[in-house]
Amino acid sequence: CGIIGYIGKSQAVPILLDGLRRLEYRGYDSAGVAIYDGGKIETRKRVGRIANLAELIKQSPPAGTAGISHTRWATHGGVTDENAHPHSDESGQLHLCHNGVIENYNVLKDQLVREGHTFKSQTDTEVLAHLIGKHYDAIGGEPTKGRLVEALRLALKQVVGTYGIVLMHKDLPDVLVGARRGSPLVLGVGKGENFFASDVSAIVAYTRDAIYLKDYDIAALTREEFEISSLLGGASGFEVSKVEFSE
Ligand code: GLU
Repeated sequence: CGIIGYIGKSQAVPILLDGLRRLEYRGYDSAGVAIYDGGKIETRKRVGRIANLAELIKQSPPAGTAGISHTRWATHGGVTDENAHPHSDESGQLHLCHNGVIENYNVLKDQLVREGHTFKSQTDTEVLAHLIGKHYDAIGGEPTKGRLVEALRLALKQVVGTYGIVLMHKDLPDVLVGARRGSPLVLGVGKGENFFASDVSAIVAYTRDAIYLKDYDIAALTREEFEISSLLGGASGFEVSKVEFSE
């Protein structure tokens, strides 16, 4: 339902929780965050209000300046802590938030199970996380932004359905990747920091420079830069808009 990703110099948790609260009005049944916490990615997720998630985070707050977060409106799999996003891949190193529906998730899941994957949730989203992770591991070699983008591209080519997604990988603490088809995703351009959001209202407190991604766009963010390519091949044109927004 709602997505926010942050990579910058500030602590990610307060920015992500603030953004999730701004998207609350859209409705949701659970919420979660994943934060790169110096060497590992820490996930916290919980059914119910964002206040519940904030309470859980307070018990042992992950410190870090890159993270992704989600409010879920369940379509596949019941409303449980396990089914809340972010979801991880088989290696536990890739973490993904997703809006939308992966229609062919059953076929993809059966194939992955045959290949030895085990799933922790009943969601369509976890299947996508495993599929991207499988391609990332199969490509092999040095962990680079290009390798993660290529893994995502290969996975999305197998997917039927709609998605706005953001993901991060433990090997690449300075990179967030996002993509969309049928569900909105906005890139927020800051100074020494960049954002993803499913709705610009989640990030206007931090930047007014927004790029409304198009269907089939894949964007890779670092603190200082962003790159937008197309799932259909090659670079993708984009335009930076000034967001007019009164709170
Ligand atoms: N289909 C996913 C799920 O059920 C995402 C739902 C959403 O858009 O929040 O977990």
